[in-house]
Amino acid sequence: MAKEELECSFCGRKKPETNLLIAGLDAHICDRCIEQAHGIVLEESKQSDSGDLSTELKLRKPQQIKAFLDEYIIGQSMTKKVMSVAVYNHYKRLLQPVTKDDIDIQKSNIIMVGQTGTGKTLVAKTIARMLNVPLAIVDATVLTEAGYVGEDVESILTRLLQAADYNLEKAEKGIVFIDEIDKIARKSDNPSITRDVSGEGVQQALLKLLEGTVVNVPPKGGRKHPDQKFIEVNTENILFIAGGAFDGIERHISKRLNMQAVGYSASISDNVVDQNNLLQYIIPKDLKDFGLIPEIIGRLPVLTYMDPLDAETLRAILTEPKNAIIKQYQKLFSMDDVDFTITDGALDYIVDKAIEYKLGARGLRSLCEEILTDAMFELPSSNDKKLNVTKTYVEDKLVKTTLKKLKAVS
Ligand code: ADP
Repeated sequence: MAKEELECSFCGRKKPETNLLIAGLDAHICDRCIEQAHGIVLEESKQSDSGDLSTELKLRKPQQIKAFLDEYIIGQSMTKKVMSVAVYNHYKRLLQPVTKDDIDIQKSNIIMVGQTGTGKTLVAKTIARMLNVPLAIVDATVLTEAGYVGEDVESILTRLLQAADYNLEKAEKGIVFIDEIDKIARKSDNPSITRDVSGEGVQQALLKLLEGTVVNVPPKGGRKHPDQKFIEVNTENILFIAGGAFDGIERHISKRLNMQAVGYSASISDNVVDQNNLLQYIIPKDLKDFGLIPEIIGRLPVLTYMDPLDAETLRAILTEPKNAIIKQYQKLFSMDDVDFTITDGALDYIVDKAIEYKLGARGLRSLCEEILTDAMFELPSSNDKKLNVTKTYVEDKLVKTTLKKLKAVS
């Protein structure tokens, strides 16, 4: 073929009519066709993205969801089981075909009760990662009733939109984790005495969101951008997970258990009640006694609890999850070709200190950081390619002053 006769094999344009003609083995393609083809590729990949959820669900039954959670979260078997079922049902509801029967599967929003640092946020994050859906983590303490200083409840959805890169379809199937829900409990039994703008008022504002409604959401959030165009977000298929420490709720549980014991001729007597983990007996009524309004409790129908972390669990958290803290350090060191090992004695010592100073799982990280900072500073520029951390090494690094410092920030 003579050079001037070259043409695009897709649209037939002659070479002079194109900006660019690229040669393949037996064919040519022009710049316009490349752009069109690129558009098609993008469109196709978008469609297969939105199919993600149904394929995920076909692949993962509750037991498999739990198995996935097991890879990242140590212990907490009750929560993992309850969550697996709730999440499975929630997304089954999303995929339900329109049928003629009047059975409308209701939302299975979840509330998790457990001390801080026991893995509530981790559970929400892991589920969002598994389903490949956007996750917004919001703190209930910053929310106030509309018109007061603080953030409106709609800001929750602004966060979700941001997490979904403003893809509305994705956001509407996302997960919202509302942390510290216990902090918006009603402050007194008589709500009429003073305006309770950050307590019951916020609970009232949250109701509609949890249930499913269309909300006008300022995409940039806040009241700082009054001119922005609102985006309508339907919360019908958004899964809400609430979490809180509910400090002191054990009192309500214990009181109720005692009353039951009297009332039902000691059906739960003292010798079977595990006083160290009263949360496991929690029922919705305890949340009401704590100060959540019944309507909120009704819209968070799945209630679960987190076990306190004992030494064995903390030890496992250090080494076992897929992205365990120790594995992360091993990876960091290996990038400098340093072979990092740590003895059992050293691990036990770190756990002991975390417990002694009530640092919890979050403290494990800060302790490791204290112990390894010197090595991470020195080894990259040294010829030493081995680091074996022993109990003595740990003791040496965690000098008294350091521990005092950690204690002060906990
Ligand atoms: P919470 O939301 O209950 O306050 P987080 O989920 O933020 O607690 O937990 C803090 C950190 O502690 C997590 O990032 C994680 O590294 C670790 N952690 C806590 N509980 C567990 C657990 N059961 N399994 C694995 N890691 C955990």
